[in-house]
Amino acid sequence: MSSISENYLHFKTIVEDNYKAKLLAVSKNFPVTHISEAYQAGARNFAENRVQELLSKHFDTQKLYNDISWHLIGTLQSNKAKYVTDFVSIIHSVDKYTLLQEINKNAKKHERIQECLLQIHIGQELTKFGFSYEEANEMFQNKDFANMSNVKITGLMGMATYTDDTTQIEKEFKGLRSFYETLKKYSTEEYPILDIKELSMGMSADYKIALEMGSTCVRIGKAIFGKK
Ligand SMILES: *Cc1c(COP(=O)(O)O)cnc(C)c1O
Repeated sequence: MSSISENYLHFKTIVEDNYKAKLLAVSKNFPVTHISEAYQAGARNFAENRVQELLSKHFDTQKLYNDISWHLIGTLQSNKAKYVTDFVSIIHSVDKYTLLQEINKNAKKHERIQECLLQIHIGQELTKFGFSYEEANEMFQNKDFANMSNVKITGLMGMATYTDDTTQIEKEFKGLRSFYETLKKYSTEEYPILDIKELSMGMSADYKIALEMGSTCVRIGKAIFGKK
């Protein structure tokens, strides 16, 4: 068994040095002592998928460190947007227009511009969240969308189907990459809300494929912190 710091450094070399991508340490279900160990090894970007757990870990780690960037990668209910818009670095899981409006409203109160990614449903599981490509395109046609002033959409997030079929995973990541490239061409004059530069895809099981398919940000939990 290798330690958390060894695991973190292993991934850092692959993700940051070899692929020039961003590495998020997904600390969900793991205690603050685990976060501290990764922090000591140099980790600064951490991600959680539940709001309550994110808030409690943000609170606990704040007493120890002031330079952790927190990422929310799980479902956010509109009525909880107000709890995260004052500190979260990127919300990866925006899956509804109404949620984006709520984030915009609350980020305004905190005088922040909240960085967000649109979660796109690329996998085959019905239980996974996100916009379809069609729904995302529809939202872009909405004038009110383009004019929101306190959110910035900097990219896309997707979770591939949980399967051993690497061809399927490749196909899904490739599709997301191609949508990402299309969005990159939208002019920022017409769409000041867009500044497309992040493609958040890849987890412990499929990060290699994701990086090959052009991921700019992988989210690694189990492979760093160990199986529960
Ligand atoms: C849990 C989770 C991860 C990390 O998954 P691992 O298999 O532990 O690497 C990445 N992204 C999202 C959205 C998650 O919920």
